[in-house]
Amino acid sequence: MSVSNTVLNEGIMQIPSWWTCPPGYEELQAKAHALGKSELLERAAISDQESLYPRESISKIAEAGFGAVTLPKEYGGLGAGLTGFAVLSESFAQYCASSTMCWVMHTAAVQTLFSAGTEEQRQRFIPDVLRGKIGGLAFSEPATGSHFWNVVSEAPRLGNGYSLNADKSFVTSAGEADWYVVATTYPESTESDKLMFLLVENGQEGITQFPFSAMGLRGNSSGPMKFRDVYVPAENRLGSEGGMNYHNDNTIDPLFLLGTAACWTGIAQGALNAAINGAKKKVHADTGKSVASYQVIRHELAKAQIMVDSARSMLYRTAEGLDKAIANGTPLGECLFPIWQLKTHAADIVIQVTNQALQVSGGRGYLTGQVEKYLRDGRAGALMGPTNEILREWIGNTLIDVPWFE
Ligand SMILES: Cc1cc2nc3c(=O)[nH]c(=O)nc-3n(C[C@H](O)[C@H](O)[C@H](O)COP(=O)(O)OP(=O)(O)OC[C@H]3O[C@@H](n4cnc5c(N)ncnc54)[C@H](O)[C@@H]3O)c2cc1C
Repeated sequence: MSVSNTVLNEGIMQIPSWWTCPPGYEELQAKAHALGKSELLERAAISDQESLYPRESISKIAEAGFGAVTLPKEYGGLGAGLTGFAVLSESFAQYCASSTMCWVMHTAAVQTLFSAGTEEQRQRFIPDVLRGKIGGLAFSEPATGSHFWNVVSEAPRLGNGYSLNADKSFVTSAGEADWYVVATTYPESTESDKLMFLLVENGQEGITQFPFSAMGLRGNSSGPMKFRDVYVPAENRLGSEGGMNYHNDNTIDPLFLLGTAACWTGIAQGALNAAINGAKKKVHADTGKSVASYQVIRHELAKAQIMVDSARSMLYRTAEGLDKAIANGTPLGECLFPIWQLKTHAADIVIQVTNQALQVSGGRGYLTGQVEKYLRDGRAGALMGPTNEILREWIGNTLIDVPWFE
């Protein structure tokens, strides 16, 4: 890559665009920022303070043509690959973390429907997705916590379908999504693993959702759900009766981890941008100096930006690697190692950077809805499954040539 677009303007160094955006995605990135500024930002504060689901913001994202971004173009997708998905997520998250997180989960659910579903199921559900219907992923259960692939709920056969009984501990868009990919088990499965995916439409008898009252991502509606004797017709099963760990490793984990890592990176950059603007604007009357003029503050900003860019570099390198794997027909399950590293790093640095941004912002940053919001929102990253503890274990196991997964 040439650095010829690095120009010196009256002594001010311009940051080259290829450093913050993968080449070829500049237009998409600009569109995402325009949408973030005009549609997501203003509603983000209301969503946070009133724990309000950001339905309008998610609808605006779908209306802009980003309702099913990872699907092939002929199904309404963007044709911008997983790199395009990462660019959008990172950009949106700088304005509204909750709508971005709901949209990332929705995108992973739509891709699961596409990858594991039949052509008939694609035709039945995807047109409504393009018109703005929202999907969600109901995996984590209280019994197995962050081991969300090891669910214990069951859905024995009932007539020409299943009777779903499941407790879910956290479901982003709980009660708000139009449908959920629910992970459960099929006890009589002949497959080596019992994991089964059911597409469950919302509003049926037996489905209950509970409020989400949390530190951050307060608009997410990521509360618990209960499914009691919910009849799911066989035509809504995605894939086989059991044996769905393949899709967990090859679809859900890659998309979810990439999309959320992009979100943590965007939150970190959003917090830092707010801190930079604040430090430039705030001038002390007694000294006549801006906060940004203190060297210690500039060093803190520099250290934070280097952390954000380390995550961003991993983000786009990983996304481009995944797009190459898709083009070569390599299963994404073979690319999990860099994806685990990426998610762990992005979720670590967002804690550090939002904390630095808050410190630089002083008391103003501590006021409700200011820089503190980025810190609360970003803190979820390390806790979300696979948690950073689990990922470090898998990375470490891989490094010493032992099976990553028991
Ligand atoms: C905002 C938010 C949104 C979410 N959205 C969804 C969603 O849409 N769908 C969904 O299915 N889930 C969702 N989740 C759940 C999430 O993915 C995790 O499953 C959940 O956060 C784990 O929390 P827990 O209390 O069950 O953790 P626990 O499993 O109780 O873990 C507690 C601690 O033990 C550690 N730990 C657990 N197992 C191991 C191990 N094997 N080795 C080392 N350490 C371990 C963890 O890292 C953690 O520090 C969401 C969670 C949050 C916070």
